[in-house]
Amino acid sequence: MSRRFPPLAASLLATALLLPLAAQAREDVTRTQDGVTITYRDATGALDVPMQEKILKTFFHAYAKERADFNTAAPTKAIITIDPSYDGIAYVGSDDWAKMTINPAWLVKHPGDTDLVSHEAMHIVQGYPDYGNDKAPTWLVEGIADFARDKYGIDNAASNWKLPDEIKDKQSYESSYRVTGAFLKWSEAQHPGLVKQMDAALRTGKYTPQLWNQLAGKDVDALWSDYVAARGGVKPVKA
Ligand SMILES: [Zn+2]
Repeated sequence: MSRRFPPLAASLLATALLLPLAAQAREDVTRTQDGVTITYRDATGALDVPMQEKILKTFFHAYAKERADFNTAAPTKAIITIDPSYDGIAYVGSDDWAKMTINPAWLVKHPGDTDLVSHEAMHIVQGYPDYGNDKAPTWLVEGIADFARDKYGIDNAASNWKLPDEIKDKQSYESSYRVTGAFLKWSEAQHPGLVKQMDAALRTGKYTPQLWNQLAGKDVDALWSDYVAARGGVKPVKA
């Protein structure tokens, strides 16, 4: 997730450049499965149909499970936009959680990485009122999304994506993404329900660092120390 949006000028330029390619324009694909409707928009046909189908399959699979396990009130309608003018990888905007944007160039280059959709789908389920502040620290929001990618993704192995089982120098629970996701997975194993309760607190604006004490019996720094010990300590970067 990111708050970056393509600048208007770049969008207009892209639109202008694409006009001669109107013959390749592709209609939106709208599909409903298990009560969830997704609109897939790839106006320029930047991704081929097999990739489109893989994205839709991954979304429906992961989102249904994430929604059922974490937030049954999450949106039943969402849109996935394939946007060649977006130069990141993918994001769900915190101004509207039900809109996912994907940079097609990334998936053309990394066709095995379609479970990025499972990560982004979790952001739709999260739908927190805050992002990137004390009420919803970025590391925790992104860690939960990668925890979910690990748990609900359908083919993480295709991109050699996995949660790390070693802790490297300078990493902490605040390292975000996979590092935090792995810590959450271990914490969840020690304290079943911890991630679900963290998620619920973030959604209601009630998250505070004290929640770690409530759920794990110690603060997050102490829990991280236990985790590092359980993983055999910190591995030097150059072993
Ligand atoms: Zn994210």
